[in-house]
Amino acid sequence: MIKRNRIFLILGICAGASALALAFYAFRSARHETEFRNAETRKLLISEASILAARASDFLKTEERNLSSLLRNSDTEKSALLAIQSKSPHIRQIFMTDRAGQPLFPGKEDLFYKSFGAFFFDPVNVNNGKQENDYSTGSKHDRVRLLTQFGIALQKNNSGWIPWVNDNRLHPVLWTVSAKKPDKIIGAELELMSLLSRILQLFPQEIPPYFCLELADTQNKVIYAVNPSAKHQSPDAIVPVNQEMLPGWHIRGYVIQQYGETTIILFNVLQIASFVLVLLACGGLLIWLARRELELAGQQTSFVANVSHELKTPLTSIRMYAEMLREKKDKLSPEKQDHYLSVILSESERLSRLISNVLNFSRMEAGQKKYNWENLNLHEFLNELSILYHPGLERLGIKLTIGSCPESLQIKIDRDSLTQIMDNLISNASKYAADGKDLNISVVERDKTILVNVADRGAGIPISSRSRIFNKFYRCDNSLTAESKGSGLGLSIARGLIRDQGGDLLYSPREGGGSVFTVVIPNDEGKSN
Ligand code: ADP
Repeated sequence: MIKRNRIFLILGICAGASALALAFYAFRSARHETEFRNAETRKLLISEASILAARASDFLKTEERNLSSLLRNSDTEKSALLAIQSKSPHIRQIFMTDRAGQPLFPGKEDLFYKSFGAFFFDPVNVNNGKQENDYSTGSKHDRVRLLTQFGIALQKNNSGWIPWVNDNRLHPVLWTVSAKKPDKIIGAELELMSLLSRILQLFPQEIPPYFCLELADTQNKVIYAVNPSAKHQSPDAIVPVNQEMLPGWHIRGYVIQQYGETTIILFNVLQIASFVLVLLACGGLLIWLARRELELAGQQTSFVANVSHELKTPLTSIRMYAEMLREKKDKLSPEKQDHYLSVILSESERLSRLISNVLNFSRMEAGQKKYNWENLNLHEFLNELSILYHPGLERLGIKLTIGSCPESLQIKIDRDSLTQIMDNLISNASKYAADGKDLNISVVERDKTILVNVADRGAGIPISSRSRIFNKFYRCDNSLTAESKGSGLGLSIARGLIRDQGGDLLYSPREGGGSVFTVVIPNDEGKSN
């Protein structure tokens, strides 16, 4: 038994320790898992944004190639240029300059040039890189040494793309040397919105609901967004579209967090907490079982000690008085002899009660208790009981009275077990309620039951113990119990015996002080006649 308890205790402690270890491990794994998942999701998002940026860049390069070829091969007459302009949705304004970048078409006064500020007219000092004053016409100056910004661009290539920014607005310019008139440059300011509308078509129609992709311009203004719901967080991916053609434009990506970081951590913590709680509960249960087993083992050990003691005490008295009778028989007065004999008698009764209790207890525990039901006249039974217990109770100063009981009242019961029950109740009254000096046994007939009340005038059972006095090995923790020997089995056995026969044993406080133990006997056939 002790070994089993130790195992329970060790198991309980192990469960507690593993709960904590697992909690720690689970917490770390959950964190790693979340970090890993976040990193993977972010990688996926970056790749989506990069693919989109690459497709946008490819589109721009193709458009550049196509438009450039269109301009290069065009006639240089005004009508031909205007025809191209009206045909291509991506061209906002077509223009033509000489090889130094000086406007030929449209005229210098045209509104078109306003959007370009210094681009077409202000020469830059090529030698020291400084811009000089008042060169708006460019006519009074040396064109090789002083070129406009556009003129400088023309020096380097035969065609090109210039992302000119004026007043915070982007004006993409495409130019090429004319194939038909190589001393002329044909260029166009491109329609940014029309280019963008084509780029927006490149955005994937369906992306995971937890992704947001958007196109943002140089000033970080969002031009277009798919799943636009991630406003407050910083982007998880930023990929430039094409730095040469649309400088500062980029694709931004966000992983939309359905739950805030705190909520996710809370979820994890809750999961782990419930897991730990379950484990702790298991550990607690095991520890409780171990403690209960220990308690039971302690009670059983004290039961064995008590029983041995209770067996030894009456045996010693019997032996002592029997020896005295044998050795001093002739010298003892008849009264003394009678007293010695009555002690031997009551001690043997005590012994036999104890042995019966122990036997009944072990039979009931093993489920082997057998009952012999017989018809019993309750009136006669109680009278016999009174004759049997009267002398012993009288010696203790207790007056036993039997209340009215119909003479013909028949019950069907196992006689030995009823004797055992009454024996335990009367012996308890003599142990714990002798001071009350009164013990009354009465019978009440109710519907289909007969109630036998055993009422004393003792101190009664404290409220806190009432629900437990019928438990195995339970003894009230008070001075009365401390003074008298007992095993805590009497009431539990008595209740078990009567319950096995369809009845019950109940406790109630007696009016005016004391206890009433009621033996409820089933009386289905109404045997009183
Ligand atoms: P035991 O008498 O061997 O201790 P029982 O099961 O017969 O065991 O009784 C359980 C406890 O109930 C007793 O220890 C005692 O404290 C209390 N008890 C029983 N009968 C009475 C009574 N008539 N008056 C007061 N206390 C009682």
